[in-house]
This record gives sequence, structure tokens and C-alpha cells, in this order.
Amino acid sequence: MNEAHSAVRRAVKRGELQPATAFACVDCGKPAQCYDHRDYSKPLDVVPVCHSCNHKRGPAKPHPGIQEAQRKARAYYEEVLA
Ligand SMILES: [Zn+2]
Repeated sequence: MNEAHSAVRRAVKRGELQPATAFACVDCGKPAQCYDHRDYSKPLDVVPVCHSCNHKRGPAKPHPGIQEAQRKARAYYEEVLA
């Protein structure tokens, strides 16, 4: 849970944003289950998506090289902890 996600939760609670479940997933049209952020610096700039499309979309704006860094870290831990 990061700041952008809690901003969405607060907005839903205050009634400023409808819950994601009120919408259809923008990617596949199935009932949406959560909001997807494309930019965490705009916490309320979100689109409703289902869990599987949210997963496919991945995290918002990944830092260039972060996936490579995560892959290396995982490989390192697997080697060390194996
Ligand atoms: Zn979907």
C-alpha cells in the first residue's frame, strides 16, 4: 500500500470517487475490482481494471532499469539462500 493507493481509498470513502467495482475494466470489459495508477505522482488519475488486467499492466511508471535490478537482486538471493 503506497500513498497513491491510500489517496484513492480516501477519495472513495469521501464519495469523491466511485468504487472501482462500480465500473467495467477498461481493458477487457469484465467487472473492475481495483483502480490502476499510471502515474503515482497523480494519485487520483486512475482507471478501473480487473485483477488480471491490473497484474498485466504492472506497476505504474517503472523506473528505467528497475526490472533488471529486481531480476539481479532475485538471482543474487536465490544464489545466496539456496
Ligand atoms: Zn480486465
